[in-house]
Amino acid sequence: MSKIAIFSDVHANLAALDAVLADASTQGVERYACLGDVVGYGPRPAECVTKIQDMECICIKGNHDEYISYDDELNNFNNLAREALIWTKSQLSSPQKEWLASLPYTRRLGRQMLVHASMENPSAWEYVRNSFDASIAIKYQTTQMCFSGHTHVPVVFEMIGGKVHVRHDEVVTIDPANKYLINVGSVGQPRDGDPLACYVVFDRLERTLTFRRVAYDVESVAQEILNAGLPEKLANRLIEAF
Ligand code: ZN
Repeated sequence: MSKIAIFSDVHANLAALDAVLADASTQGVERYACLGDVVGYGPRPAECVTKIQDMECICIKGNHDEYISYDDELNNFNNLAREALIWTKSQLSSPQKEWLASLPYTRRLGRQMLVHASMENPSAWEYVRNSFDASIAIKYQTTQMCFSGHTHVPVVFEMIGGKVHVRHDEVVTIDPANKYLINVGSVGQPRDGDPLACYVVFDRLERTLTFRRVAYDVESVAQEILNAGLPEKLANRLIEAF
């Protein structure tokens, strides 16, 4: 049980999730952890919830998973987010909504911490975008390693002797002397300019992190978004990965 696939921000993109799970099985992965935002933006929220439930993997809550239980607060969202949220709510059964609402904000995975956004205040959904943000978030991290998502941009922040270094290597070997905040990127809606689905394989024995990028049929999912009547911008976003 040395290899764990850690993924985040599926955003109701079933084709991307299936591609990631197929790739993970070729990597000798035996366990999975999902860092939240199973739903939101994408065209297959119910199927993605069912799939993650059936996998019986560790799953924590993302902001979009939380928004599903909002009723009166929808006016605080911009039009794009509100439209997508109202549509997503209409697609989910009551038990599925209850399951999303019941997800914890953080969890331990062995000696690692899992959080969707930031350990500074997990339910505030702050964005850790750069080494300055990471230097604050990492102070709230009591474990050597913490895995997160939320920005949809894969990156490793490595703290070496009090200073945070930004790493974009495909493979990172964990140095026992350093602290790590790892953003695993997004399965269903990357925003780093690369539309391929992204996730991380953590090898607990070898102490390595491997960032995997996986192709899937982006155009057909973009078409599904349009067919569902969701905003065109959400379809374009998948292709342009912004
Ligand atoms: Zn997200």
